[in-house]
Formats: sequence, structure tokens, C-alpha cells
Amino acid sequence: MRIAHTIDELAPHTGGVLIPTMGALHPGHLLLVEAARKYADEHSGIPVVVSVFVNPTQFNEQLDFDTYPKRLDQDARACANAGATCVFAPSVPTMYPTDDPVPVPPLPQVASSPMLEDHHRPGHFPGVCQVCKRLFDLCKPSATIFGEKDWQQLSCIRAMCAQLDLPIDVIGHPTIREPDGVAMSSRNLNLTTAQRKQAVGIVRGLIEAGQHANPADAERAGRDTAESHGVRMEYLAVRDASTLLAPKPDEPARVLAAGRLGDVRLIDNAPWPNFSLDAPDAHLE
Ligand code: AMP
Repeated sequence: MRIAHTIDELAPHTGGVLIPTMGALHPGHLLLVEAARKYADEHSGIPVVVSVFVNPTQFNEQLDFDTYPKRLDQDARACANAGATCVFAPSVPTMYPTDDPVPVPPLPQVASSPMLEDHHRPGHFPGVCQVCKRLFDLCKPSATIFGEKDWQQLSCIRAMCAQLDLPIDVIGHPTIREPDGVAMSSRNLNLTTAQRKQAVGIVRGLIEAGQHANPADAERAGRDTAESHGVRMEYLAVRDASTLLAPKPDEPARVLAAGRLGDVRLIDNAPWPNFSLDAPDAHLE
């Protein structure tokens, strides 16, 4: 497996499956890499590229950017073991050359769904679309894998690829959770032991929301459950799974949540209604 820092070094590894990440990889990320390996093997052994780039343009808080965990050597070893062909770890000037500015592509409508990520992190999705379009231009993937954990991001990327007519198969991978149900996230590394215990409130809120057939009741009950664990919720909202607007009868819906523990912001989501972990009570205290 190669580590490419420059566009020239990346060149032999284009045309495959791309997994964009910001590094500090956890076992959830590595399952995406394994899924990419499987996809590549079924498509004449095309390359599997994992990009590791902490994208400054998608952070709306300097502290979040500054404290984002970084550990490239460890990430590269893990990617090699999971079947990657190449880790692409570009510098900021490689991604964003000052003499050739990288445009923000026209944003799909899902990027600005009311009262969700865009409201709480203004500028986040423009940054995500900008970096992903740049990565797509450089890596020329035929497929790309994104986690359902970031449902709004996955929706944006799908919509952006459709809008720009990019010939890329956008594959969503189910959320990988810790034994207690908390979604794996690089940001979990920044939680104290006490906060890590409280973090389970978010997934418990999603489960509670799934017990209510009326969206407003679901949102209220889900939020109360999360906050009873000490999570400061920014939103817990039931939305149409595709448009991220108000849910429609008989269409798939999703409950989406974001909350804070100290300075750490966590997000999660689940199908709605009737979401349960395989054996939640076996893991939840
Ligand atoms: P990140 O490095 O956090 O930007 O994540 C890189 C990719 O991994 C994104 O597509 C995420 O949605 C995905 N990902 C991160 N955590 C998880 C998880 N727990 N389960 C599934 N996918 C994940």
C-alpha cells in the first residue's frame, strides 16, 4: 500500500473506490475500507483509496479544527490491513492551491434543510461539497463510500453527484456502533470518561423517538431522553429520509440528532419509527 501526498503520487491509483475521511480512523471507518475492498474485488480489482484530510473549509469552529485528532502513521497501517491500495494524505496547498482557487459547487437543496446541520454549522456543507468535489476530481473514482452515520452528508453527496451528473456510484454504509450503542466517531476520543458514558443519551434518544408514531411526540420524548443523560441537544428531528424536510406518510423517515458534551459535538441518526439496536438492553446500563 502506498501513501500519496501529491497529485503525481496519487495518479497511479485513480479510477477506483474512494473513501473520504478526516483520519483518526476507528473500526467503523475500517469496515468502510473493507467494504470498498470487496467492491473493488468484484470490479476487476480497481484501486481502493482512503483520503485522510482534515478539511479546514468545513469547520465552523476553530477549536474543533485545532483539537481534531491526527495520527497518519497509525491510520495508514490500519488502511493497509483493511485492504486499501493507497492512502491519499494531501497538504492544504495541494487541495487548495492559492493560484487556482477551488470553487464551491452549486449546493443541493438538502444541504440547507431547516434547523439541522446547516443551521447549527453554517458553512459546513459548502465546505464538505467543495472538498468532496475536489477529491472526486483528483481521484476520479467510479464509486465512493460514505457512512450513514453522517446521513445529511451522505444525502448532500448523493444530491451533488446527481446534480453535476458525476459518473460515481455513491454507496451508503450502515452506522457502526460501540457495544453500548454509541455511534463510533473520531470525536469520541475527545470525551472524558464521564462524558463518554453520557454520550449514550443520544442513541437512547433515537430509540425513544422510535417508540412514538407522531413526529412531534417523538421529537419531544427523544430530546428529553437524551438531555436526561446530560447531553445538550441542538436538535432531534424526524424528517423525510430523502428530502430532509417534514416526514410524509408512507415514505421512509429518519430521526436525526446532534448534541454537545462539553466542547465535543456528536451527531447520530436512525430509521424512524421503530429503531432498536440488536440487543440494546444487553449493553445499556
Ligand atoms: P470522518 O472521518 O468522520 O469524516 O468520516 C469519514 C467517513 O466515515 C464518512 O463517510 C463517515 O460517515 C464515515 N463514518 C464515520 N464514523 C462512522 C460510523 N460509526 N459508522 C459508519 N460510518 C462512519
